[in-house]
Parts: sequence; C-alpha cells; structure tokens
Amino acid sequence: MAEPYIIHIDRLGDGAIQKIDAILSSEFIGVDEPDLHFCDAVKVCGEVYATDEDLVLHLNASTIAQMSCSVCNRPVPLPLSIKSYYHTEPLSAIKGTVFDFRAILRECLLIELPKIAECRGNCPERPALAPYLRQPAAPDITPHYFPFNDLKIP
Ligand SMILES: [Zn+2]
Repeated sequence: MAEPYIIHIDRLGDGAIQKIDAILSSEFIGVDEPDLHFCDAVKVCGEVYATDEDLVLHLNASTIAQMSCSVCNRPVPLPLSIKSYYHTEPLSAIKGTVFDFRAILRECLLIELPKIAECRGNCPERPALAPYLRQPAAPDITPHYFPFNDLKIP
C-alpha cells in the first residue's frame, strides 16, 4: 500500500475493521532540529473502524528519537513506544472520504518525549560540570561531640 496512513472511510461500513500494519518514514513528524530529530522509521500497527458517528483508531507505534544530552550535547537515542492509543474522530469533522492519521500519530509520539535527555540517564561528563551545578544539600555528618564520654567516674 503506497499510503498506509490513509483511511478510506467509505470502505469501513458495517462494522468492518481495517488492520493497520505499516512502517512509515519519520519525515511526517516534521521535526529536524539539532537537539531533536527522528532518523528511524515509525512502526505502527493497530486497527481502525467506524461507529455511527466516529472513526475510531486504535494504534500501537514505536520509533527512536534522537535528542541531545543536556550535559555533553551528544545525541541520545530515546526509544518511544505508544501502546493501545485510542483516538476518535467525529465522522462529521472529516472532509471527503479519506482520513490521514499521521497528524494523530505525530502528536502522540511528540507527547512521549521527555523534556530533557541525558546519556543513559547519567552522563559520564556530569562530574566535569558538577562545579557549575547546584549541589544537593550536604548531609549532616558532623560527629556529635560528647565531652564527658572519657570521663572516668570512680
Ligand atoms: Zn552526555
């Protein structure tokens, strides 16, 4: 199928369920910035059906985003995975007989992104940056002083 992201609504009558199983180029996400881009394909599978009023999409998707490490700036691969995502679109809101689900998919992938990324959750260059980071409050390790401990009581 040349355009596996296109749903033909007119073919979804009478409780028909259309299976989705596709690998899409990540270009449709439209994000290609130094700090965030997608170079892996987006795998998507699931099903789509129509009720009397709505088009219902039930999707699973996965891909890998590349974000820059917030400490060393190296690219960090971030696997994204969407499981059992439901989207309903009122049929009255769909113009014509085709629905392109890429915008829905894009949205739910982008929501999965963390705000910041770091190499394996703990950048090896973090110690080099430590002097510039706010230190966590030091624990109280002052030894308690018991001045009379040595006192020998006869
Ligand atoms: Zn790093």
